[in-house]
Amino acid sequence: MKIKFFGDPNMLITDFASGKPLFTFDGNGELVLSDDNPFVKRMKARFRHEVVAEQAPAPEQKPREAAPEPKHKCKKCGFGSDDWGEMVKHYRNEHPKAVK
Ligand SMILES: [Zn+2]
Repeated sequence: MKIKFFGDPNMLITDFASGKPLFTFDGNGELVLSDDNPFVKRMKARFRHEVVAEQAPAPEQKPREAAPEPKHKCKKCGFGSDDWGEMVKHYRNEHPKAVK
């Protein structure tokens, strides 16, 4: 489990006992520590924190099925159909001037 702490951006946390630098909050004032980190308890007492959801299973990225390209495509507006009659109708209705 990971815990995210909220502090001041780029704030340095030092060990109270030794004065050694321990962690630094990132530019957003966030710091993520593993649950088993010995300092987590101390950090929890000091900073607002939340549990970071354990690597949520990434939403399955199904490759978007490309729409099947229609056999015929209107050059004017992109309307497409497999049926030529449909296309003729489209031309007549939508682009009457284009019909020769
Ligand atoms: Zn069209």
